[in-house]
Amino acid sequence: MTFPVHRPRRLRRTEALRGFVRETRLSTGGLVYPMFACPGTDVRIEVSSMPGVYQQSVDQVVEECREVADLGIPSVILFGLPEHKDETGSEASAADGAVQRSVEAIKKAKLNLLVITDVCLCEYTSHGHCGVTKAGEVLNDASVERLAEAALSHTRAGADIVAPSDMMDGRVAAIRRKLDEHRFQDVAILSYAAKYCSGFYGPFREAAQSAPQFGDRRSYQMDPANAREALREVALDIEEGADMIMVKPALPYLDIIQRVRERFDVPVGAYNVSGEFAMVKAAARNGWIDEKRVVLEILTGIQRAGADIILTYHAKDVARWLKAC
Ligand SMILES: [Zn+2]
Repeated sequence: MTFPVHRPRRLRRTEALRGFVRETRLSTGGLVYPMFACPGTDVRIEVSSMPGVYQQSVDQVVEECREVADLGIPSVILFGLPEHKDETGSEASAADGAVQRSVEAIKKAKLNLLVITDVCLCEYTSHGHCGVTKAGEVLNDASVERLAEAALSHTRAGADIVAPSDMMDGRVAAIRRKLDEHRFQDVAILSYAAKYCSGFYGPFREAAQSAPQFGDRRSYQMDPANAREALREVALDIEEGADMIMVKPALPYLDIIQRVRERFDVPVGAYNVSGEFAMVKAAARNGWIDEKRVVLEILTGIQRAGADIILTYHAKDVARWLKAC
């Protein structure tokens, strides 16, 4: 039976009806707000390509976390900038690093926030790669050891969840082993399981000062053309002990989010990355799009594709907008 018996427009007539049959209900419950911690005190430098996003010293990080928690956002993810960069990214695991001190300070302030730490070396290495290098090559196994050390230092500082983003093989297993050895068996791992070698990371590299000084990241991050490979990466990370997995970036990879959601039963995260954020901000500033409408549509799309957790620089705005509706 078809028209005139069936009239799909019947359920679109009023907001009451549309709200009643809505399939995807965006909420602040799965949002994660990314933040950049740097050395010093009273430092707050806006990232030019990411309006409203700052490199901040620990005291300022805590202040913004207070605001984030008050908005009902459940979680933050911390990236760090070191005092000095070196070949092996030694400050990535420093007990007094900006991330480690931020975690301690947030926990001390007793904020109602899950603290996730990004585990990688690229912000800390002089060459800007996510691992240790030798003769222009990024070494896998030597990098994994360093990453596990970094994850342990975050955990010692009080992190609830560690999130390895380097894309080395075997790093989830190494981190799980290291945390368990030190009786941190209850600290969860959110792995960047399917992280693509993407042009959408440009503004982040300014924020984290992590652009590679030679070559690119194609030998460890995924080829944007591959979907089946993403399923393999996710399967491996879950086998190695990942509690949650992530797809990064989000918008050009909604099909990956959907396929991962269908195939696996762990919580799925998606990172609405810096380039996706910057494009919206730039267009909105020019009056070319309605920022609120576009952001809510983007995040609804990411959730509809299957993401339970969304990491986004829009989190604070979204929380305010959802509160107001
Ligand atoms: Zn990295």
